[in-house]
Amino acid sequence: MNTQKHVSLNLNLRGMGLSATLALNERCHQLRQEGHAICNLGLGQSPFPVPGPVVEALRLAAPEKSYLPVRGLPALREAVADFHRSHDEIEAYADGVIIGPGSKELMFLLQLTYYGEIIITTPCWVSYLPQAHIIGRKVSMIHTSHEQGWRITAEQLQRSWELVHDDYRPRLLVLNYPSNPSGRTFTPDELKAIAEVARRFEAIVLSDEIYGQLHHQAQHVSIARFYPEGTIVSSGLSKWCGAGGWRLGTFHFPPDLYWLLDAMAAVASETYTSVSAPIQHAAVTAFRGGVDIERYLWHARRILAALGRQCADILDQAGVRVFVPDGAFYLFLDFSPLRERLAKRGIEKGAALCNRLLEEAAVAILPGVAFARSRSELTARLAYVDFNGARVLAASESIPLHEDLPADFTRRWCERVLHGVERIAEWVTADS
Ligand code: PMP
Repeated sequence: MNTQKHVSLNLNLRGMGLSATLALNERCHQLRQEGHAICNLGLGQSPFPVPGPVVEALRLAAPEKSYLPVRGLPALREAVADFHRSHDEIEAYADGVIIGPGSKELMFLLQLTYYGEIIITTPCWVSYLPQAHIIGRKVSMIHTSHEQGWRITAEQLQRSWELVHDDYRPRLLVLNYPSNPSGRTFTPDELKAIAEVARRFEAIVLSDEIYGQLHHQAQHVSIARFYPEGTIVSSGLSKWCGAGGWRLGTFHFPPDLYWLLDAMAAVASETYTSVSAPIQHAAVTAFRGGVDIERYLWHARRILAALGRQCADILDQAGVRVFVPDGAFYLFLDFSPLRERLAKRGIEKGAALCNRLLEEAAVAILPGVAFARSRSELTARLAYVDFNGARVLAASESIPLHEDLPADFTRRWCERVLHGVERIAEWVTADS
């Protein structure tokens, strides 16, 4: 049997372990069990509960027991198309929608069915690259910098594609905004310019908008508005609806790309068949929205905006380069201004920085290398969600929505996050 172990493993999987986020989470869990008071700013899970009407819809749908169509429950596909029509102001059709067990799985199926170059801009979400490696696809990375706000520009994209002198190469460009790990997003003009380059090179865009509804000012704009014929929009329940564990993701395809949708549906039919029936029935309520869900989202955004700004301010004052986030619940930290100081303590790389921070200050964050950045870079992602979302939502609900949260609100309700961020600031400015 041991010989099997050495010769029969798919070559693409050699050296592959648990995803970085999950591995760190397990380590924090272990340290907590050993009695350490760990502040976990590593895991990016929505802290908020699933909205009440959606939970009630799931309760009522519990008896639903039949397999559903591979592409999804017709009423849900209709609701997802309506959602994109009203939120993103694009032509969207139920025929163009596919429902999957999380958008992560749909991305995997897309990378499996699409045969061409996959382009990813870094820092990027942890799973795009491992998925491509599992399938054995070639990935081109375009690195962005703090100076450009961790966002690719149209000029940079055009330059990188012109350099290879191959206008007809099939390309799939993956964009994610608001971004995990940076919390940044694009302006409509920036998206328009990127759309023009994509159209010129006939590239397909996979637009990962899973955090779209968590734009802190409710001003999310999809690139599909400027490049409707070539954009696949990805969304799901995991972030704006707080239901990551329900495992439901959605893709919307324009008619020109139905050939890809058909291929994905064929693979889905031979693998997961369809997403759990009760979850799909409940998701209809989530995607149809309504006053309660809108109110829930406004509170969630107001809390995330206030807390994100406060965390960024504390770190900025400690000399860490960081942006106030536009959406989602992440900050991408650049410790390079403190490089000399850290080097004196023997810290020269992002992974060493995060390990020492965990050991010496009991705060968990993830190094930039998990987001496809260079190993030598002193960057890391911080997720500011280590708070009790149900309690914080209830506290926010007692304050009228048109008002800003009081100055002491986050201190009172999100103390663990602020405490963790302050520990980072103190640790990083300590002399040795
Ligand atoms: N894209 C991004 C940017 C994410 O952060 C996540 C979840 N962490 C996903 C996709 C996948 O989400 P899900 O599979 O839960 O829909």
